[in-house]
Parts: sequence; structure tokens; C-alpha cells
Amino acid sequence: MVIVMKPNTPADELEKLEKKLRSLGFDIDFSQGANYTILGLIGDTTLINVQQLQAHTYVDRVLRVQHPFKRVSRHFHPEDTVIDINGCKVGNGNIIMIAGPCAVESKEQLLTIANHVKRSGADLLRGGAYKPRTSPYSFQGLEEEGLKILLEAKRSTGMPIVTECISDDTVDLVADYADVIQIGARNMQNFALLKKVGQTDKVILLKRGMSATIEEFLMAAEYILAAGNHKVILCERGIRTYETYTRNTLDISSIVAIKELSHLPIICDPSHAAGKWEMVEPLAKAAIAAGADGLMIEVHHQPELALSDGAQSLKPEKYTHLVQAVKQIHSIKSYV
Ligand code: PEP
Ligand code: MN
Repeated sequence: MVIVMKPNTPADELEKLEKKLRSLGFDIDFSQGANYTILGLIGDTTLINVQQLQAHTYVDRVLRVQHPFKRVSRHFHPEDTVIDINGCKVGNGNIIMIAGPCAVESKEQLLTIANHVKRSGADLLRGGAYKPRTSPYSFQGLEEEGLKILLEAKRSTGMPIVTECISDDTVDLVADYADVIQIGARNMQNFALLKKVGQTDKVILLKRGMSATIEEFLMAAEYILAAGNHKVILCERGIRTYETYTRNTLDISSIVAIKELSHLPIICDPSHAAGKWEMVEPLAKAAIAAGADGLMIEVHHQPELALSDGAQSLKPEKYTHLVQAVKQIHSIKSYV
């Protein structure tokens, strides 16, 4: 961290600040220019309160050299994190395929889709039992009944389950059923929820907030790791831009950036990015070509009857095609 002092800072003020920073455990590298004194802080600056420093009467500017995240940073953990979900490995160079309906609607619906996606090559089954809907009048999910249906589907197909938790008071309940707890885009900065799932031993699938920067996304993951849970999979699902033709704009560059900045695996959800089923396969291919560790895709056998997100849901045969296509792209990528 670099602190630029204002011109003509009194010597005793500079000394006081130096003393304070040294007492916090930093070494200081001074650089004295004609007008400015610059302090280079050496040490772990992740815990520094930049706002307080910036409020100092004689501080002109504070510039971060290091990122504000630590535990998620590749700098502190150079090797890729590999996460094991009942034998399915994420982050080891293979691609993990997660598929299923947006919402669990009934036992028959989920089992039909689960059997289809399993045959197509999906590794994990997704399905929302608690749905964070924009409208209070839209289907809100079957709640615990939905979790029970997910467990039945897991028992009959052998596929581990991914399901969303939307409030800190249901974390324990969801954790009783789920193999992977999803934190959705709308809750990416629900810090109470992040801390609570950070205290579980479940794998957490953290989706990017619709207006979150890459740094904010990684800071949200940092909350989970700081609470003790290192099993976090990130998910790029598109961000809100001025473009309205698609539901969101898929930020492929975030996959590349996060691979560089963090050791955590990152997968892509092209369904919520596109909002249209026709665009899901091309975006999925692009994400895999860019280095994503897997894909989460919404699939429904009767999308015209789906209680949520039918327009972006692939029919089972289209999902089968997608799996084959992305596996080909992945094999080329490995070759390159
Ligand atoms: C979902 O996965 O069903 C979902 C609600 O996604 P997001 O949080 O990315 O909108
Ligand atoms: Mn959905």
C-alpha cells in the first residue's frame, strides 16, 4: 500500500502516523520528493482501514498495490483448489456438469428430468426448493417438501444435489439435504448468509451478483473462507448491462480474470445469462473454451409448463447435444 502525504505535512504529524503504522506491524519505506512524502507500507495490508487512512488530515491519497482479498487469492495459495463432491472433482482440469430444473415442482417432474440429465452425462442435479423471485406473486418454491424430493432423486439416480439457500435461518435445514448449497446472485452480498454457510462443512456454489464487480465477487467468497469454509465454487451467471436483448450479459472475461486472481474453481451458468434457450449452448461452449471448470444448465422436459425460467430451459435432447458439444471443445482446449 502506498500513502501519499499532502505537501508541507508537519514533521511531527508524519512521525505520529509512522509510529501508529509501525505499531500495527508494518515496515515503512519512505520516499521524499520535492513536494510529497510517500510512504510504502510493507506487510499484510488486507486488514487496514483505507477509509480511516484517507480521512487523515495530512493524507492526500491511499493506493492499494495488493488486492483486498487474501484467502481466495492465488497470491496466497498458488495451486488450484480441487473440491470433491461425493467423488466428483471440481477444479482439477475436468469439467463438472450440473443440470436440472430451475425449481423443483413435483416428484414426477424432478425424477423425469433427473433421469434424463443423468443419461446425458450430468454429474450433479440442481433444483430450487426456495426460489428468490422478483415478484411475490410468482412461485416461491416447495421449500422443505422440495428438499425431500431432491433427496429422493439423489437416492434414485446417485447424483449429488445442488440447491439454493436464501436465508440464514434455513441454512441448517438446507444443509441437512444438500451436497452443495447455492448462494444466488441476489444474495451474493447477504453477509449474514455468507457467514452462516461459511460455518458449515458443505460445498458452497457462490453465484456472481448481477451488479457485482469481480473484486466484490471475490470479497463475497472471502467471507465464506474467512468463516472457515474453503470449499467454494464460483459461478459466473451474467451481469446487468444496458443490453436488454438478453436477460443478462455473460461476462466471459470474468472467467479468465478469476482464474488469474484466485485458486477457486469457477463454473458458468449460461442459462441465467442468456434468458433464452437458443443461446445457451453457444454461450456454454464459449465459457468452456475460456477455461470454466464446469457448467450449470437449466433443463425441463416441458419448458412451456415450467413454473419458473421455462424460456431459458433446454429440453433434455438439447441438453444431451450440449454435453457432447462442450466435451469436444474441452478436449481441444486441453490439447492447446
Ligand atoms: C437459479 O440458479 O435458479 C437462480 C435463481 O440463479 P441466479 O441467482 O443466478 O439468478
Ligand atoms: Mn432459474
